[in-house]
Amino acid sequence: MKTIVLKSRPEGQPTLSNFEFVEEYKTLTIADGEILLEVAYVSVDPYLRGRMNDAKSYVPPFKLNEPVHSGVVAKVLESKNDKFQVGDYVSGMLNWSTQQVSNGEGLNKVDPEKAPLISTYLGILGMTGLTAYLGLTEIGKPKAGETIVVSGAAGAVGSVVGQIAKILGLRVIGIAGTDEKIDMLKSKFGFDEGINYNTTKDMKSAIAEAAPNGVDVYFDNVGGPISDAVMFSINQFARIIICGAISVYNNTELPTGLSVQPFLVKNSALMQGFIVSNYAEKFPEAIQRLSGWLSENKLTYTETIVDGFDNIPQAFIDLFEGKNKGKMIVKI
Ligand code: NAP
Repeated sequence: MKTIVLKSRPEGQPTLSNFEFVEEYKTLTIADGEILLEVAYVSVDPYLRGRMNDAKSYVPPFKLNEPVHSGVVAKVLESKNDKFQVGDYVSGMLNWSTQQVSNGEGLNKVDPEKAPLISTYLGILGMTGLTAYLGLTEIGKPKAGETIVVSGAAGAVGSVVGQIAKILGLRVIGIAGTDEKIDMLKSKFGFDEGINYNTTKDMKSAIAEAAPNGVDVYFDNVGGPISDAVMFSINQFARIIICGAISVYNNTELPTGLSVQPFLVKNSALMQGFIVSNYAEKFPEAIQRLSGWLSENKLTYTETIVDGFDNIPQAFIDLFEGKNKGKMIVKI
């Protein structure tokens, strides 16, 4: 079996040298109540970068020389736990190890009725889908006829936020990093407008032009100058969901930016940080809505599937280069 451990804490952009592969030649055995798992799909996520720092956050940091873990879908190879049968697929937070033993705590059986592909339990029916739905509905409180701007729009969370906003009757503007992604936002996901932040010189004007009636909801996945530019277009009583700030995750010093308070005050606007795990009691409702829309073909998704366990660290690093469209997943 192979395991990926965090060898050193990244300084700035993570590199392959921050990770180490540990190979062990042993047969794993299970005790009563345990299951033996073979990992099938691994989710790589921007938030894992924060856990690689030795800093206080909403989840504890990874320990050096211990396995990195994230959302995983795995197959049950052996079971001495009544809740899981051999051949079942489960999802949950598991190690970046090809095989591992679990007592089943925190693992959910993957229901093939709800989704056509088991990888979707790491994306649209997993943490990122829940984030999109709950961040938008709980903080964004979207209303038909309003305008929403979504940054990181072609990624796992952003592409779902935009589609849900369309279902709910909003005008949807997405911001992403390539023309190909902008085309995808409009042709595949039904966004009304798209702005490529890498080729647009004046983001402030581009946002104002795309949102002639102003911005009522801003779903922020990236932070930094892109989000500063959105502030100039917010409407009275705007809701700003701070879901992520990938543009600054690799900064070694805290960046300075626009002072947002005057924009919030004069517009009586709400800006609120969002962490999906705080809404666990709403997960069943969210999954029901998401899987319902999926089966009605109102919602679709895209996944960037990278092949092979050895490519997990590179797939993670590639998130910061925008190499993914939709959810980045590694197939083992
Ligand atoms: P993702 O959007 O699928 O992947 C990351 C994307 O970020 C890349 O594809 C890239 O797209 C963009 N990006 C990278 N560097 C950037 C930069 N400097 N400026 C602007 N965009 C940049 O990832 P995700 O899993 O859906 O996560 C999106 C955000 O939500 C992240 O900030 C993540 O931390 C956050 N999140 C929060 C929660 C929560 O509970 N709060 C849960 C899940 C995710 P481009 O090509 O467009 O640059």
